[in-house]
Amino acid sequence: MEFERLRNLMVETQLISRGIKDESVLTAMRKVPRHLFVDDSLIERAYDDNALPIGEGQTISQPYMVALMTELLELRGDENVLEIGTGSGYQCAILAELASSVCSVERVEKLAIRARDLLGSLGYRNIEIKITNGTYGWEEAGPFDGIIVTAAAPEIPKTLVEQLVIGGKLIIPVGDRWSQILMKVTRTPEGVITQSITGCIFVPLLGDLGWKEGWHD
Ligand code: SAH
Repeated sequence: MEFERLRNLMVETQLISRGIKDESVLTAMRKVPRHLFVDDSLIERAYDDNALPIGEGQTISQPYMVALMTELLELRGDENVLEIGTGSGYQCAILAELASSVCSVERVEKLAIRARDLLGSLGYRNIEIKITNGTYGWEEAGPFDGIIVTAAAPEIPKTLVEQLVIGGKLIIPVGDRWSQILMKVTRTPEGVITQSITGCIFVPLLGDLGWKEGWHD
């Protein structure tokens, strides 16, 4: 009950107050138990207005950033969505509440397995997690109506845009290590439309088409 109260408070004070309007996104954020996606030692801080460490040098994103990126996908329920960077699995759960299928890739085996177990135990049956370097996307599982990249890329990977349906959207932070711009890239028959949404800070997307390993140390 206490966590439910904290979740409702999070939605009011962090999301609605900053302009998140999509009711289905707000409903998902009120529902998914974020405190189960962080380490027990951080459980009291799970609904705080910031990112939190999840081990392996990675983070679970700030609630507002999860809500904003999800809202930008404009999901209506029948979509196939790809996430790059499963991490804790929290963003994955939010997407699974709103789309018909979610594919997620994670390069760190330990995180992928933990997220897969947790999401399974929470009853999600529309999520598939693959352990791999995701900068090339997941061609066999596509095409996707939406792709969300939860790590910072030096540029927009062309391979990801190619795995979108026409009308599909890619949400991705692009920039350098300490500051990025969240970009919304829409694939149209005439090419891509790129919009800058807001400044943000994510952990780096590593590997081919991302940053070199060790670069962030
Ligand atoms: N969406 C996550 C946040 C993850 S942080 C959540 O809700 O908790 C970013 C994640 O991207 C990290 O777990 C990191 O290991 C992963 N990552 C970084 N580069 C990657 C790559 N090239 N392919 C797949 N995953 C990657």
